[in-house]
Amino acid sequence: MDSFLSAVIKTTKRCNLSCDYCYDKDGEIEDRPIEEHIDKLMGEILSTDFENIYFTWHGGEPLLKPISFYENIAKIQRRFPNKKIRNGIQSNLTLLTADALLYLKELGFGIATSLDGPEELTDINRHGLGVESVFDTIKKEIESMQLLDIRPKAVCVISQTNLNHIRRLYEFFESMKIDITVTPLIPNERYPKLNITPQEYGRALIELFDLWYGNEESNIKIIPFNHIMNGLLFGQSEYCMFSENCLNYYVNISPNGDIFPTCSKLNDSSFRIGNLKYDSITTLDIRKALERAKMLRADSIKRYCQDCEYYFFCRGGCPAQHTNFSILEKDHFCISNRMIFDHISHILRQ
Ligand code: SF4
Ligand code: SF4
Repeated sequence: MDSFLSAVIKTTKRCNLSCDYCYDKDGEIEDRPIEEHIDKLMGEILSTDFENIYFTWHGGEPLLKPISFYENIAKIQRRFPNKKIRNGIQSNLTLLTADALLYLKELGFGIATSLDGPEELTDINRHGLGVESVFDTIKKEIESMQLLDIRPKAVCVISQTNLNHIRRLYEFFESMKIDITVTPLIPNERYPKLNITPQEYGRALIELFDLWYGNEESNIKIIPFNHIMNGLLFGQSEYCMFSENCLNYYVNISPNGDIFPTCSKLNDSSFRIGNLKYDSITTLDIRKALERAKMLRADSIKRYCQDCEYYFFCRGGCPAQHTNFSILEKDHFCISNRMIFDHISHILRQ
């Protein structure tokens, strides 16, 4: 079987928008290491034994990097014809030009964005200087993508803003034919009015599942629903949050060059695999770091999860879905997981 690595590359922490729930706003803005050492990073990752590598170009806003940055990446990747390489970019789309869109399509990049529902739900929390309506801009770009036969995907963050508008949100994504990944807003004292409880999120997931599953003509995929059904039926899931997949194959690289397990920043520097600027990263370094993180996490979550009937595929959920970004803590939304697992199990048994 192919060995797989998913590398999430945070190209910058800078962003042209200023969303109310952004947790990176005051983060470090040093992004020269990524810019200056991208050839080294690509060379090292592509020289590892992983045969199948998925790069996610992330931010901040990754389109603050010029398109020549991505041209260079594609050029380096072509030097490794024996690897199976895929790329995706996670962008707010407000800086996407027609030329950049065509070029990303030509390079075969998947394009994903963030949308919290229709205009009245998205524009409440997402704004930017010089952007009148973030929603309108994203919608226009999504329509341009659809004209080019690019299937749009969006991350939809559930917060107090859209929590009680699940039907409206679902109907919007169906009507626009946009596949979504739903994710809860991680609680933070910076935006107390937007925080939701795990019970609230669990109820929102159930409502969304029922709308989607009950619609035989649905046009869209909603992550994580298919993954949960597969997990419950077959004990395995491809989704990062289940079956320890995150710690089987995810690494992230910060703009300052730090490399860590998972897709997200972590608060414990002992998990750092190395720094792009100073270290050479090998297959062994990555495998050892992931193995150690997996072992310590499994050890630590035993006390929370050992009696759980869903442990066989959930395996503790998302290690970064925690207010402290601690890999050793229980998934803050465990209760929501259990609520939706119970609900889907019940439906599958009928
Ligand atoms: S940290 Fe969470 S969201 Fe990120 S890859 Fe791991 S499971 Fe997925
Ligand atoms: S549902 Fe909760 S208790 Fe059960 S395995 Fe997942 S995180 Fe652990």
